[in-house]
Amino acid sequence: MKQNVPISTLTTMRLGGEARFVQEINKVEDIDTAYQFAKSNGLPVFILGGGANTIGLDEGYGGVILLVRLRGVEVIEERPESVVVKAYAGEVLDDVVKITTLRGYSGIEALSMIPGTVGAAPVQNVGAYGQQISDVVAEVEVYDSQTRKIRILSKKQCKFAYRESIFNTGSEVGRYFIVAVSLRLAKGATLHPPFYVSLQKYVDEHQVADFSPENIRQMVATIRAEKLPDPKIIASSGSFFKNVELSDEEAAVAREKGVQVWRENGKNVVNSGWLVEQAGLKGKEFYGMKVSDKAALILINESAKSYADLSLARAKIADIVWKKFGFVLEQEPVEIR
Ligand SMILES: Cc1cc2nc3c(=O)[nH]c(=O)nc-3n(C[C@H](O)[C@H](O)[C@H](O)COP(=O)(O)OP(=O)(O)OC[C@H]3O[C@@H](n4cnc5c(N)ncnc54)[C@H](O)[C@@H]3O)c2cc1C
Repeated sequence: MKQNVPISTLTTMRLGGEARFVQEINKVEDIDTAYQFAKSNGLPVFILGGGANTIGLDEGYGGVILLVRLRGVEVIEERPESVVVKAYAGEVLDDVVKITTLRGYSGIEALSMIPGTVGAAPVQNVGAYGQQISDVVAEVEVYDSQTRKIRILSKKQCKFAYRESIFNTGSEVGRYFIVAVSLRLAKGATLHPPFYVSLQKYVDEHQVADFSPENIRQMVATIRAEKLPDPKIIASSGSFFKNVELSDEEAAVAREKGVQVWRENGKNVVNSGWLVEQAGLKGKEFYGMKVSDKAALILINESAKSYADLSLARAKIADIVWKKFGFVLEQEPVEIR
């Protein structure tokens, strides 16, 4: 177990003070040992994968951070039309996408290049370019910190919704440590036109006719590389603000004012990146935090020295959007507290 580790080194936004304890979880038995250590010392626990959706505070974290490093990927079931692939939580999600698409399996190819681990993917039900992980989750193996037992949660029990699951919403948040995720993938292509807007644009412009999982992966990787920052080089947490949800009445008023309102999963949604861009903030920098000039939804840590800087920048951006549109922007990434 390590002590006094800067959270800035564990997260892609690269901010935050020290974590009092950090324990790598390399095998399943390590999980219970770490929880018992935390319990007997009266300390809270925070589970951390790649830190791509998590931000550290300046005061650091007085508890135990569990670094998910459980490895292994295997095909556990094979049928004529599909396979079930079980991947352990510490695997890099994109590595699993790469391996499975190379074998011609379909279901997660559009999730190519999403930073982070397999274990975090069900937490916010990661999605991109028309696919989300819940589409293919067969089951999730978890360590239950209440019973101290390993158990299997069915897809239904995970209560997946848009960027939501029981792991980040509701009364059971913090109860489960995700050990492994089993994905049912199809043999052969399952994504066909019309695709998600930016993917379709690429297909049209390049007159693509090969929609194999491997080719979709290549297209998505190219599109993403053009506008999204590589966390190895540029510090960010990806999408920084949640999309704004409106009631039908609010949506009607907003549309009259020229606001773009989308229907998504039965809800009225305003893209927060669109709001930030329309507020004239693309490329603008506040307190060392820059609104990406390629994708306004992304806030880049150019030279912020602290979480306090980020907090000031967030307030400034939210205030400008509020004054222009009357919508409240909320932060998407989780904070370690
Ligand atoms: C440049 C960039 C682009 C991005 N693009 C997308 C995108 O297209 N689509 C998308 O959906 N997301 C996107 N994200 C967000 C991010 O990649 C996802 O949220 C991803 O799942 C984070 O994985 P992680 O391992 O880094 O999670 P972390 O940040 O380490 O953890 C995220 C949350 O999951 C919890 N958690 C992590 N592992 C476990 C576990 N084993 N058991 C229980 N809880 C756990 C943590 O406690 C935390 O609450 C992007 C981020 C960046 C930086």
